[in-house]
Amino acid sequence: MINAETQLYGVMGNPVRHSLSPIIHNGAFRRMGLNAAYLAFEVENLAEAVSGIKGLGIRGVSVTIPFKTQIIPFLDQLDEVAGKILAVNTIYNEGGKLIGYNTDWRGALGALEEKAHLKGKRVVLLGAGGAARAIAFGLKERGCQVFIHNRSPQKAADLANELGLIHRSLSFNGRLDADVLVNATSAGMSPNDEESPVPKEILAEEMTVMDIVYKPLRTKLLREAEERGCQTIDGLEMLARQGAAQIEIWTGKKPEIEEIKEDLRRALE
Ligand code: NAP
Repeated sequence: MINAETQLYGVMGNPVRHSLSPIIHNGAFRRMGLNAAYLAFEVENLAEAVSGIKGLGIRGVSVTIPFKTQIIPFLDQLDEVAGKILAVNTIYNEGGKLIGYNTDWRGALGALEEKAHLKGKRVVLLGAGGAARAIAFGLKERGCQVFIHNRSPQKAADLANELGLIHRSLSFNGRLDADVLVNATSAGMSPNDEESPVPKEILAEEMTVMDIVYKPLRTKLLREAEERGCQTIDGLEMLARQGAAQIEIWTGKKPEIEEIKEDLRRALE
């Protein structure tokens, strides 16, 4: 029941009407018995939107494309990890002080660690965009040997240099020498469902393959990885966990991941 005590949360991005975040958060708030509501805000002017958060006392905001880096100068404080990643996907309004966090890396690493032991593993990370930055940071934190490959090689080289990782232009001839493969590019995302970032032949049975694309849920990469006998992790695992980590920051309470995944699966189907 929305009443005068209801706390307001939301996501700001542009475009944002496709966002699954309202599904994640409103479902979790309801189950947790919190008097809170979560809306999607399609933002044109970031400065005005930030004034709105403060002026209206909006408690917490998810930040998505294209604002994850642009938001940083508008914040009063940056969590240490978000400062290293240089991307913010979560704002907590602590009595008028806006604090920026990044939960994408926690979401991705949580999903991976449920299926694979990461320390010392060779991980090939595809992509050098916003999500790849967060995941690269997390993989380094966990002591992985990280190889970054990107369609635009210079961006991969820049990210690798910045984080002290290895940049490798993969030839994709024969076998991929890796324990874990993570796709953090948009390749395979709807409407390009029949696209995969790597040829099927390089996938080997002992690999764990994670795709962070979640539309469609069973991407071509994951379908082919399954056919090759790999362990697979879909994009919903990261999505649910990054959202759950946001709720924890905002409320201090942990939501049930499995129930969030169920809501998301239903919405995606
Ligand atoms: P971004 O900052 O725009 O980066 C896009 C990345 O994908 C770049 O590395 C780009 O390479 C690469 N790329 C785009 N199209 C490609 C193609 N056809 N073939 C190969 N590489 C391609 O986007 P982002 O925020 O990192 O998001 C990337 C993907 O992750 C999106 O599909 C997004 O929906 C998904 N995502 C999922 C979650 C989750 O929780 N599951 C969270 C965040 C993002 P260039 O540098 O060469 O352009």
